[in-house]
Amino acid sequence: MKRILMGFAILTTAASLDAQQAAPVAANDPIRALVSRLDLEKYKATVKGLTAFGDRRQGTTRNQKAVDWIEAQLKSYGCPTERVKYDYNPAPPSGNTGGGAGRGGGQGGGQKPQDPIIASGEVRSGPGGSRYRGITRRTGVNNDPNAQPDEKLRELNREPTKPGAREQVYCTKVGTSRPDEMYIVGAHMDGHGWGEAANDNGSGTALVMELARIFSMPDVQTDRTIRFALWNNEETGLNGARAYVDQRASLQGRENPPGSGRYPEPKWLGMIQHDMMMWDHGMPRADGTWNPEQRPEADVNIEFQSTAKRADEAMKLAFFFREANQKYATDYPAAVGPHMTNTDSTPFMDIVPAISLRENERGMHTGAGWNPTWHQPIDVFATFSDKDFRLGLNAAQTTLAGVALLTNARVK
Ligand SMILES: [Zn+2]
Repeated sequence: MKRILMGFAILTTAASLDAQQAAPVAANDPIRALVSRLDLEKYKATVKGLTAFGDRRQGTTRNQKAVDWIEAQLKSYGCPTERVKYDYNPAPPSGNTGGGAGRGGGQGGGQKPQDPIIASGEVRSGPGGSRYRGITRRTGVNNDPNAQPDEKLRELNREPTKPGAREQVYCTKVGTSRPDEMYIVGAHMDGHGWGEAANDNGSGTALVMELARIFSMPDVQTDRTIRFALWNNEETGLNGARAYVDQRASLQGRENPPGSGRYPEPKWLGMIQHDMMMWDHGMPRADGTWNPEQRPEADVNIEFQSTAKRADEAMKLAFFFREANQKYATDYPAAVGPHMTNTDSTPFMDIVPAISLRENERGMHTGAGWNPTWHQPIDVFATFSDKDFRLGLNAAQTTLAGVALLTNARVK
């Protein structure tokens, strides 16, 4: 009980929820100044940079080169990097490479795989405790090289994955007065499906990198520490994030060396994950097609998991970020849901309040086939319009503002 109350205290001392709801944005608001440093063209350029490594599938040279490139960018922003090393040795393949992805589920009968499923009245369960509504479509991972029409990209993605040693990178902004306490801002950098993994998850990776860039600017200070983590092996079952938790949870809050004022693993206060940020075109249509445009009602979906040990605090954190969106995001609103699932915040959620930000709810939207680019050859940079990129940028504004408030960020 005491731990829970302390968690609430941490959230409410940084910026009271009630005060947030009441107060307008001040003209000289440092949070607004920081949010204004986000830029659509810079965000797009970072997504584009990631797509140069194809689908960045774990266990390949293109994946290793992407980790190197991400690390070089983070260093160039002035954000000191470190790597987590682990081994990934899965059981021999059973023909399913989409371990972390899940499936539409509950669909079948005499229909062809590409047919939309239109059902009403019955309760259809989706991932994470969600419920499917309306029209759904099958989902899966493309494993067919020839489904990629771009010959150069097909060759870039040709090298198969192999088991063995893996690395992932993070960088850290150290807090001035509370270096021993930390928020973790994450996204997975690996992908698959023979595309460029532009949306899943170049969009989340670029968001985290952009936040690292802005928080690392020399005139920015925070009380608390922020870590920017680019997980590997999400698509195989969250293995990179799990490795981080396994290796580092027990190091939390320890000063090392003693008396140095340095905390290799500050105490975790919250984990904020980003996975698929750009596509909210609505439900598939009855004829099996999708709206080619971002829907005007598009939003950022902030999810917590109601079955997590830290669910109550995670719920509060989710609404805190919703409020940050309301105050600081320029184009798209945010909604909160209780079914966070299938993403790198899951290994954290019993230890620390954990939330994820997405283009859609992972269970009832993504799982129901709302995103036709998901794990497909069309998940390439050119598929997405500025309206799509702007949804990703609005999620970046949301997280930047939320984390800036929680860490008491200021501009000197
Ligand atoms: Zn993903």
